[in-house]
Amino acid sequence: MRLLVVEDNGELVPMLGRLLDTAGFAMDHAGAVEDAQLMVRVGAYAAVVLDLGLPDGSGLAVVREMRGRGDTTPVIALTARGAIADRVAGLAAGADDYLVKPFAPEELLARLQALLRRSGTIVDRVIQCGNVEFDPTTRGVVIAGLPTVLSARELELLDVLIRRHGRVVPKATVEAQLFGIDDDLSSNALEVCVHRLRRRLASAGASAEIVTVRGLGYMLGVRGA
Ligand code: CA
Repeated sequence: MRLLVVEDNGELVPMLGRLLDTAGFAMDHAGAVEDAQLMVRVGAYAAVVLDLGLPDGSGLAVVREMRGRGDTTPVIALTARGAIADRVAGLAAGADDYLVKPFAPEELLARLQALLRRSGTIVDRVIQCGNVEFDPTTRGVVIAGLPTVLSARELELLDVLIRRHGRVVPKATVEAQLFGIDDDLSSNALEVCVHRLRRRLASAGASAEIVTVRGLGYMLGVRGA
């Protein structure tokens, strides 16, 4: 699951990166309003963590523009201590929650998870396709009754496909989930990843398989169904 962190504080960014990484999130980063606006248009983010005090303006412009386009991605605004006007303006502009700096990292995580649960991105139940089970909370994978360890990217791919199993997931959606803005992408990076996950599924005895729907995308379905 990929998040966008919009923050210009050079010390906070790597700290957030480590925090989110240990919680199983991938992070893209923008340090200014203009970059953030570009990135939210192209990236498929599960949520945005948005500092309001940015070098080229207020983070409010980012959330206002997102909501104006009908983009409902959850946004947590980060505001300076005591700036009540900021908090009110943030919520009025369409932010879903706010956190006052300095904040405890655990609180940001807890609020993110609550937001993602509310928006339906985090579901508490295990998702199943054939004999492949995926627990969105722990990100654990069980295939044919046995816990199976996947690489980070294979896990992301399984995550995006199994949440929509039985439906075709557009290639662009899969790519946006798997790869960050800064990732240097070879043209067949996605195909390589699909190939690897297919092999892992097959060798673990999965009854689900990844089907390529030419020109459209990929679908996880039960073999022979
Ligand atoms: Ca700032």
